[in-house]
Amino acid sequence: MATAEKTKIEDNVVHLDPAAEQELTDGFHLVIDALKLNGIETIYGVPGIPITDLGRMAQEEGIRVISFRHEQNAGNAAAIAGFLTKKPGVCLTVSAPGFLNGLTALANATTNCFPMILISGSSEREIVDLQQGDYEEMDQLAIAKPLCKAAFRVLHAADIGIGVARAIRAAVSGRPGGVYLDLPAKLFSQAMDAEAGAKSLVKVIDPAPAQLPSPAAVDRAIELLKGAKKPLVILGKGAAYAQADEEIRAFVENSGIPFLPMSMAKGLLPDTHPQSAGAARSTALKDADVVLLVGARLNWLLSHGKGKTWGDKPKQFIQVDIEPKEMDSNVEIAAPLVGDIGSVIAALNARIDGSWQAPPAEWVETIRSKKDANIAKMAPKLLKNSVPMDFHSALGALKNVIKERPDAILVNEGANTLDLARGIIDMHQPRKRLDVGTWGVMGIGMGFAVGAAVETGKPVLAVEGDSAFGFSGMEVETICRYGLPVTIVIFNNNGIYRGTDTDPTGRDPGTTVFVPGARYDKMMEAFGGVGVHVTSPDELYRAVSAAMDSGKPTLINAVIDPAAGSESGNIGSLNPQSVVKKKK
Ligand code: ADP
Ligand code: MG
Repeated sequence: MATAEKTKIEDNVVHLDPAAEQELTDGFHLVIDALKLNGIETIYGVPGIPITDLGRMAQEEGIRVISFRHEQNAGNAAAIAGFLTKKPGVCLTVSAPGFLNGLTALANATTNCFPMILISGSSEREIVDLQQGDYEEMDQLAIAKPLCKAAFRVLHAADIGIGVARAIRAAVSGRPGGVYLDLPAKLFSQAMDAEAGAKSLVKVIDPAPAQLPSPAAVDRAIELLKGAKKPLVILGKGAAYAQADEEIRAFVENSGIPFLPMSMAKGLLPDTHPQSAGAARSTALKDADVVLLVGARLNWLLSHGKGKTWGDKPKQFIQVDIEPKEMDSNVEIAAPLVGDIGSVIAALNARIDGSWQAPPAEWVETIRSKKDANIAKMAPKLLKNSVPMDFHSALGALKNVIKERPDAILVNEGANTLDLARGIIDMHQPRKRLDVGTWGVMGIGMGFAVGAAVETGKPVLAVEGDSAFGFSGMEVETICRYGLPVTIVIFNNNGIYRGTDTDPTGRDPGTTVFVPGARYDKMMEAFGGVGVHVTSPDELYRAVSAAMDSGKPTLINAVIDPAAGSESGNIGSLNPQSVVKKKK
């Protein structure tokens, strides 16, 4: 930057007395100090103009900086860090294209209620606003706004403290979500008096205040539960996020009500818990008369609370959520319990006293016998040592790996790979299953794996469809570079859903197929990681066990029968069907 220009910027901000021996700080350092003051220990990002030095200096100041190969993966890592820690995960990107790449992750975080802050450098306001064609010119703030919970821009170094504080509070208070923080390039080199700078920083006190439910709302919910013949608790990822594990366990066990975990709530209580209705999901949803939703929304993942999934018997819903607007979003909520999950469940627990009666034995027994029957039916499919592997036999092997390592984190994406793993692999501890979430989005795999490994230090097993892996596969280099304890298993069936499509004209490959027999394991070897190629469930079990015990970055290419998958996995019904007859 030219000296004349620099003087001008400094003149705009603070009038420095060149004669005085003044200690100075600048935008770079104020951003770093503000993050550190608020307990942010890690930044995920991709360096470049104008934030390269910010990353360097953050590292120098003791913040861990994890550099990725693509911003979307850095953003996903930050988002899952937010989910796992209840502190906003921070993602740092360059302007325009880097910002846009990060934005997908920010929008996904917001949709999933994960606290995250996307910090992007941006070009000069004066040029952007006059549309004069700056380097990577884009009105990023305006573009981010509709895609996140809140968006802020800081123009003066003296406002960095407030800007960061607002971003943190917006991300974690109430319903958590994504926040965008726009930092124009000029801000970073703005100088100000160091003491005044330190004073301008803000430590966010009680960033996610408890929100207690009203006593009347608790009464209403308890009355409904007491009158229920077939009560059911549904635990969602909001319940996992809340980290009220003991309160939730006490409520479920003391009330005796069967529970059904949503995908990322699996393990909040172990899937092997006697009250789990996981393997009797259809029966539980159809027959229940009073349903208590805890941090789970009645969106498409729960068939909007109506239709075939829920059967024709009348239902009443109790919903625990911190977001009042969530109530009645799809069906009437008979007993809204607005508050944070820890406080609400504590209030309910106080009412599970001597007057409480366990749910009718008949209902509990119906669920249990249905569940036992389904588990027994599944068992032989999981034990087959078939070559080529199908999804069941491969997942049977991985189920055992996780059973033996209950504190490992499972990342999971794909179509069949996702749907079947969710049902087959039991989780035993809270917040150990991380997956495609509310959007059912592909591409979270390596970002989540890196974020989970960095934040928890636990071994991570990423079970990936070959298609899903492709969206973030380059990050195997990141995993090797940081030496993270991540084991990736690619369920390689040569394509999307299946590997058997053809182009009816004979000209090109079918639209859903990949190079047959691809060796993803070689990708890992290219960066110094361990690559393994397996074709049987026994081999798979041994390779994954060894990899997870070694802690070395490993990619296992697991060959799956190309004909084994079904179109779109479990959600084929969402695929529109053409009414035009196929050409012969
Ligand atoms: P799932 O997909 O597992 O059903 P959702 O993402 O649909 O879960 O729902 C999570 C819900 O949890 C959101 O409506 C969100 O507002 C709510 N939530 C998140 N954190 C808390 C909390 N600490 N207390 C109460 N509700 C919360
Ligand atoms: Mg596939």
